Amino acid sequence: MMEVKCKSCSENISTHTQISEQQINEAIDKLTKIKKIRLVDDSTYEYRLSQCRDCKYLEFGVTCLQCGCFIRIRAKLADAGCPLSKRKRWSPI
Ligand code: SF4
Repeated sequence: MMEVKCKSCSENISTHTQISEQQINEAIDKLTKIKKIRLVDDSTYEYRLSQCRDCKYLEFGVTCLQCGCFIRIRAKLADAGCPLSKRKRWSPI
């Protein structure tokens, strides 16, 4: 079993305890119910995910090693950006 150290917390995370699809969908569903949080439209969301899929900092297909976030959740947030700001990977040209 491989363990990695999360950049944003002190816990070691086992690859066997990754977040499930259901947990991600539940988290996104909760976000949609919070009025103060602005979400991106579906095409922007898919664009962001496509950028992450090609990124060397995407770990196990779910976590960004630059910010420690679950990408499927962070990419939904309109006010969130890719932490590699100089490259502006989440900004369509
Ligand atoms: S948010 Fe940026 S740095 Fe993180 S995986 Fe996606 S493209 Fe890479």
